[in-house]
Amino acid sequence: MSGPAILRPMATIDCTKCGRTGDRVAFRPFQNDLGRRVYDEICAPCWAEWLKHQQALINHYALNVQDAQAKEFLFQHLDQFLFQTKSAP
Ligand SMILES: [Zn+2]
Repeated sequence: MSGPAILRPMATIDCTKCGRTGDRVAFRPFQNDLGRRVYDEICAPCWAEWLKHQQALINHYALNVQDAQAKEFLFQHLDQFLFQTKSAP
């Protein structure tokens, strides 16, 4: 990792998913670009919505979240769920 992550608590962001200004998530959920985008662009309520959706996916597909393929699957769904909601025809 390259240096400590400096997190500003309770900062607000303009959420990419819902379009509202809201509290950002409390921490960067993943140490990758997707985690950075979530932290920079997604509000806490939308993140909570995703966590519920993710749990439903894990239950439905009986995913092992330690499994690399399962992680990739969830990242793809996360990306779609949070960042591509306007692309549906
Ligand atoms: Zn939102």
